[in-house]
Order: sequence, then structure tokens, then C-alpha cells
Amino acid sequence: MAFVITDPCIGTKDSACVDVCPVDCIHPRKDEPEFSATTMLYIHPDECIDCGACVPACPVAAIYDSPESTPASQKELIEANSIYRAGDPALVSQAESIVKAHMASHADLMGVAPAERAAAHAK
Ligand code: SF4
Ligand code: SF4
Repeated sequence: MAFVITDPCIGTKDSACVDVCPVDCIHPRKDEPEFSATTMLYIHPDECIDCGACVPACPVAAIYDSPESTPASQKELIEANSIYRAGDPALVSQAESIVKAHMASHADLMGVAPAERAAAHAK
């Protein structure tokens, strides 16, 4: 199990989760070179210790507590979280490609303000 960041992070990306994560498993951080170019942040599934601290810190409810609890509309982003590796351009690019494809195929969700997107996941 690991926590999963989903699409309300797109357009928000405020790093509040990074600030509370005790094991530094959320990337890119603001001080990493990939930060400005990435669409959202990602949780490394092998490093996440399932502490739950990031969930209440997120202002837009983008973080689910497991792949199993991640809504159907967000399932492809589980893989994006899993693939992303800071400092590896190929893996960063792969993760971002998944996110871009998600955005293209979910114009409905992208048309909703980030703060309202999590509520729309269940519909
Ligand atoms: S659940 Fe805990 S360890 Fe995992 S990403 Fe969130 S804050 Fe970090
Ligand atoms: S707190 Fe939420 S919106 Fe902010 S960077 Fe983390 S996942 Fe994205």
C-alpha cells in the first residue's frame, strides 16, 4: 500500500504535503530542478510509510490512502506516482506523459476547479 496523489494537484501543486511528509517521499520538491516543469507531485510507493500526514495537509483532497481507494477516474495516476523518480529524466517524462494523457481524456474533470475536483471523482 502507498498513498496516491491524484488530479486536484494539477493546478494547485502547493507542496503542503511535502512539508509534512516525514520520509521525503513526495517529489518533486520545490528545490528540485524538475519542480517548475512537472504538472503535479508524486508519491514514491516504496518509500511512503502510510503515516497519513499528507492527507489533511492537502487543500484540495488530492491524496488517497491506497491504490484500492483511488477512484476509477484516477487509476492511471497510480502508475504515474509509481513511475516518477526525481533525477531520472526518462522516468519523469514517462510519469508526466501519463498525467498529460489523463488530462486529455478527462476534460470534464479538468474543467472543474481543483478545489472541487475530488468531489467530482465519485460521480
Ligand atoms: S502517507 Fe506519510 S509517508 Fe506517505 S506520502 Fe503521505 S506524509 Fe509521506
Ligand atoms: S498538498 Fe495536495 S495539491 Fe499540494 S502539492 Fe501536495 S498533493 Fe498537490
